[in-house]
Amino acid sequence: MDNKRTRQLGNKYVILAALSMAFYGCKNDKPEPEIKEDIAKVEQPKEVFEFGFKLNDFIVKRDTIRKGDSFGVILERNKLGYPKIFHIAEKAKDTFDIRKLQIGKPYTLLFSKDSLELPELFVYQPTREDYVVIYFKDSIHAYKRKKPIKYIEKTVTGVITSSISETLDEQGISPVLTNKLADEIYAWTIDFNRLQKGDRFKVIYTDKYIDDTIYGGIHDVKAAYFEHNNEPFYAFRFQTDSLKGIVDYFNEEAKNLRRAFLKSPIAFGRISSRYNLKRRIAYYGYKLRPHKGTDFAAPVGTPIRATANGTVTESTRRGGNGKYVKIRHNATFETQYLHMSRRHVNVGQFVKQGDVIGYVGMTGNTGGPHVCYRFWKNGRQVDPFREKLPEAKPISDSLKEKYLDYIKPIKYQLDNIFFEPEVRDDNEFNEPIIKQAES
Ligand SMILES: [Zn+2]
Repeated sequence: MDNKRTRQLGNKYVILAALSMAFYGCKNDKPEPEIKEDIAKVEQPKEVFEFGFKLNDFIVKRDTIRKGDSFGVILERNKLGYPKIFHIAEKAKDTFDIRKLQIGKPYTLLFSKDSLELPELFVYQPTREDYVVIYFKDSIHAYKRKKPIKYIEKTVTGVITSSISETLDEQGISPVLTNKLADEIYAWTIDFNRLQKGDRFKVIYTDKYIDDTIYGGIHDVKAAYFEHNNEPFYAFRFQTDSLKGIVDYFNEEAKNLRRAFLKSPIAFGRISSRYNLKRRIAYYGYKLRPHKGTDFAAPVGTPIRATANGTVTESTRRGGNGKYVKIRHNATFETQYLHMSRRHVNVGQFVKQGDVIGYVGMTGNTGGPHVCYRFWKNGRQVDPFREKLPEAKPISDSLKEKYLDYIKPIKYQLDNIFFEPEVRDDNEFNEPIIKQAES
């Protein structure tokens, strides 16, 4: 019965999915209105199914586990004698330990629709998705199942006025989406603490529904487009390892969005002094002079590059630091570049990984031309060469072609989602695509 139910759901969604695909597969072909009516009819079930049973065939009693309730107490309260309860518990114990009923969790009892109105099965729901059926009409069966889950694809667009969470909140979208965008997808490319007014985004994501009706939250983000400082940043979700289930986000050129920091702020140069908290210097009488940076020696005038995307928070000249620049990359990381001969950026400026921010010099406290590169994690200076920084694994050559083929229609879909003031040329285009149900 359970399978039959799933099959029914499956068919229904496959039809819908096929239709929706047709909508955007051939933009100019308007769907026949008759087809839509047919679908509407399919969507109205006369019979109510749940837990793999046709509820119309039973008297249905729903409740939640209360203090003092046990499987025995509940069934005894519902006209079942103790020897039978014991027998059921014994038979069911390999599937489900009836002592594990938790207070507050829902359960359902189905009774025969005859004059006896005897209980025939007990359904317990430990989670919103999982349920346990204990069937005991004549023979006794116990089994665990999952409710059918449906994923509905949705799109959202927004223009930043203050913050992304506010922009999404105004549209009633869960903060989970903000977190996915800020902490998971764009953490290495966009600093969400420093979004600009007018930055805008489009996101294709899937919502999860349990049993057709219960909202199960945002499932995942399929693709996103973020325009930050008038620069487009595409992100496409792609599974790079199906065995390990590794999923990552890549841009339209198959580049990983999780960008590691550049190893060095200068293209060619050598490390002349490493981060060393126990450094002692003869000049200072061998007193402890911790070195919280990494020095890269290079001729005066060598360009200094930002090691990751970020926003310039300091660009000034001060004491021993000389002329320096400090960049914030995200909520966690900042980098700082000292002793420059010339600074090339201003405070508030957005820089990309590799952008020239200044030139090697000898300003401040230094014995020779070099850049002192300082790396901050959560406000503390650390050695970037010892930190476990997120790696940006490139997509393998064998997968790259597959990836580019895969994203083609998704990018097309993304590019054809329009921001609010813009006019859509086809209203059907953004209809949600309902994906195949899972059992
Ligand atoms: Zn240094």
